[in-house]
Amino acid sequence: MSRVYNFSAGPAVLPEEVLKEAAEEMLDYKGTGMSVMEMSHRSKAFEEIITEAEQDLRDLMNIPDNYRVLFLQGGASQQFAMIPMNLMKNRVADYIVTGQWAKKAAKEAEKYGKVNRIASSEDKTFSYIPDCSDLPVSEDADYVYICENNTIYGTKFKELPNTKGKTLVADVSSCFLSEPVDVTKYGIIYGGVQKNIGPAGVVIVIIREDLITEDVLPGTPTMLTYKTHADAKSLYNTPPAYGIYICGKVFKWIKAQGGLEAMKVRNEKKAKVLYDYLDQSRLFKGTVVPKDRSLMNVPFVTGDADLDAKFVKEAKAAGLENLKGHRTVGGMRASIYNAMPYEGVVALVDFMKKFEEENL
Ligand SMILES: *Cc1c(COP(=O)(O)O)cnc(C)c1O
Repeated sequence: MSRVYNFSAGPAVLPEEVLKEAAEEMLDYKGTGMSVMEMSHRSKAFEEIITEAEQDLRDLMNIPDNYRVLFLQGGASQQFAMIPMNLMKNRVADYIVTGQWAKKAAKEAEKYGKVNRIASSEDKTFSYIPDCSDLPVSEDADYVYICENNTIYGTKFKELPNTKGKTLVADVSSCFLSEPVDVTKYGIIYGGVQKNIGPAGVVIVIIREDLITEDVLPGTPTMLTYKTHADAKSLYNTPPAYGIYICGKVFKWIKAQGGLEAMKVRNEKKAKVLYDYLDQSRLFKGTVVPKDRSLMNVPFVTGDADLDAKFVKEAKAAGLENLKGHRTVGGMRASIYNAMPYEGVVALVDFMKKFEEENL
């Protein structure tokens, strides 16, 4: 068996310890004689799994009691509709558009009400985060929406927008649990787990209790109503049970590493190695304004599409996989999520140095 360094943007690398543990428990989970995949979601064993997973997440993020944690399906993309269906009481929302995911979310919300795009960085291919300290937030906006870490473009909000008292909703799919967060600043924090937490199929929604109501838009399906899932503790129907089990293991892994403070230190150390190299390279260049750089997704280019393709191919042969950039940006992208070891980033930078020498 040999594992590669996997720089995929998602589904993405998971901690090896977690995968090994899951493998050991595959045929017989803690003496139940069955796999978690085969188990009733109403069983005592699964009840313990989901309860512990929620508690561990609450501990990690310091989630206050007036917030609920929901384990749902449909990916982050389903939230693009679920959020307006549940929150658009006035049928107005403000969106800050910093990339494809926020753009898609805004477009979906337009099906349900008026969407004001109060800021955007599309003028420069989403390579920066706009100044959000004094935006024209709409008087009657039901919420202000951001995508906090832009997976495709490699930017991150280092400061949250001034929402002027309006509820903040954030898609944190690609920066979930990468550093400490003040949950009280948000109405909803949500993310698909396949970037930084677990296997595809689970989306976690952390939602303030007052936003969970029966007063949703007419025609909202039962399954797309937050209250349905909050009342049933994420067990209204069969949840993505195996995925939740893996997420729970990742929460425990992060706790064992020292929690979110420790993840931040680790992630900053990893990102610095790569950004420092990019800043002095004569061949490669980062595509993002330095102050807005993501700790998780690092896009870079040589400026020559053929050379980019050669790099991706040779890197793969050297055990550094999934470095091809998103089709809308081109070039390369290294996603260096929580589970990417420091050694993986060092191996990448060493390879880049060698490639630079050979191709300059
Ligand atoms: C990947 C991603 C999505 C889409 O996630 P799905 O689970 O595939 O719907 C949305 N937002 C962000 C920030 C992402 O990185």
